Amino acid sequence: MSERGDRSAHPESVQRLIDAFAVLPGIGRRTAQRLAFWVLKASHEEAAVLASAITAVKESVRHCPICWNPADHSPCRICADPARDASVVMVVEQPKDLANLEQAGTFRGVYHVLMGRLDPLDGVGPDSITARDLLGRVEDPSRNARGERVREVVLALNPDMEGDTTGLYIAEVLAPTGVELTRLARGLPSGSQIEFANRAALADAITLRRKF
Ligand SMILES: [Zn+2]
Repeated sequence: MSERGDRSAHPESVQRLIDAFAVLPGIGRRTAQRLAFWVLKASHEEAAVLASAITAVKESVRHCPICWNPADHSPCRICADPARDASVVMVVEQPKDLANLEQAGTFRGVYHVLMGRLDPLDGVGPDSITARDLLGRVEDPSRNARGERVREVVLALNPDMEGDTTGLYIAEVLAPTGVELTRLARGLPSGSQIEFANRAALADAITLRRKF
């Protein structure tokens, strides 16, 4: 393989940096090399700024213990906000979806971030998502935002096969609790992504949500 050939061409520390860049989303091996060479050429200060920005974000940003959204406060601002209705919990796959739904500005409840979605073909099972914590919030109000009892769970999952699989699993997990389960209206074209959907479409999908 030619990659093996590339490997021996670099000093070990440079190769480690290339490998580290190559795991980033959207970064292929060639781009990883370009980034590593930028670091080689950069001043000590420039490199230190990059390194410390990465370290700082991992040290200061944690997951909200209630909803799993990345936050620098515990609980996060949304969970702590007394103006929001903590009895309605909207379930999303990833923080990016939450961010886009917030932009729509229609939803005044709180969230639960699954930190992924079920993908049996790719070996992603129930233990890889935070469904158990969601169940905990529904069963035990003290685990929900501001200690409130959960009245409604709104599924805001992507309209594709993995999103549907995940939704069915959540429905199964929550069934014994008897909590009201709804989902976004199918205003979003099938296969489209919540993280990229426009505000108006999301606002409609939230307002017109229906029983799951
Ligand atoms: Zn939170």
